[in-house]
Amino acid sequence: MEKVVIIGSGCAGWTAALYSARANLKPLVLTGKQPGGLLTTTTIVENYPGFPEGIDGYELMTRFQKQAERFGARSKFGEVEAADLSQQPFLLTVDGETVQAETIIIASGASHRHLDLESEHKLENKGVTYCATCDGALPIFRSQPLVVVGGGDSACEEAMYLTRFGSIVYLVHRRDTLRASKIMAERALSNAKIKPVWDSVATEVLDVKQDKVTGVRLKNLKTNAENVLDCAGVFVAIGHIPNTQIFRGVIDMDETGYIIPKRGTETNVPGVFVAGDCADRVYRQAVTAAGLGCAAAIDAERYLAAKNE
Ligand code: NAP
Repeated sequence: MEKVVIIGSGCAGWTAALYSARANLKPLVLTGKQPGGLLTTTTIVENYPGFPEGIDGYELMTRFQKQAERFGARSKFGEVEAADLSQQPFLLTVDGETVQAETIIIASGASHRHLDLESEHKLENKGVTYCATCDGALPIFRSQPLVVVGGGDSACEEAMYLTRFGSIVYLVHRRDTLRASKIMAERALSNAKIKPVWDSVATEVLDVKQDKVTGVRLKNLKTNAENVLDCAGVFVAIGHIPNTQIFRGVIDMDETGYIIPKRGTETNVPGVFVAGDCADRVYRQAVTAAGLGCAAAIDAERYLAAKNE
């Protein structure tokens, strides 16, 4: 039986692993389907303290992992399909195998939110994507007009990245001011290759019949006018959905799926702790996730010490 099992391998997960490993608890990290988490899909991380020149997201997460492994953390690639938290030890099913755990730290992060248009799903990976760093350099996007949907930091970051490849990048946002932080918004809006399209939502991605993206149908929310913007790619950056579905009905969460801790990082199930984006609808930063990972590891360690006294 494992003393500490950490579900997720982003900033929260690997920090929890580092602290649990240094407490001699030999934590097991279940990586999820995206080892390293969402930060691995970003380019340069400029706001993680300690890296004044910035650091590549993938490189940062590799360092997190190496540091935790140095003290004995282990990892297993795979996604948790089911969790039985009704008894001790807890039982987790990972790719068909059962893992027994005395404590669990849920650090499962969040996934990209979709527009939920039928055409969007039909054209996914055929010009519709959720990650500019992963897909932006593909030949189909080179020297072509591209669309980014969203108004947050992610949308600005994606749009700026895509200016390397596209002929022009339209930033389609449903309001007339960006939600992004001031520095990101200013950078995006001062980039000559980024053209904001305000007050607009995408109602259809074209062209399902041709099986590729040729444009996006937009509706102006103030005037109700519709028009089609020609483009070769649609990059959706409209926020995230917490990866907590398997805990629904067992772990307390709000209506959108963010886990609600009871006290510190404790959940309503004794022995199950939570850290990072899956419980944070407010800050969602790499450094806050890492901080909560540390807190969850300390809470789990104290729980085990009290139990074994
Ligand atoms: P976010 O801040 O939640 O922004 C999501 C954006 O998508 C908002 O502008 C929202 O519009 C729009 N939106 C949501 N649902 C929509 C829909 N159905 N249709 C059209 N538009 C929709 O998400 P994020 O940009 O992914 O950022 C998440 C967190 O990560 C934030 O805390 C951010 O600061 C952080 N982050 C930081 C950096 C950085 O510092 N370099 C980079 C990336 C992310 P409204 O504005 O109208 O709500």
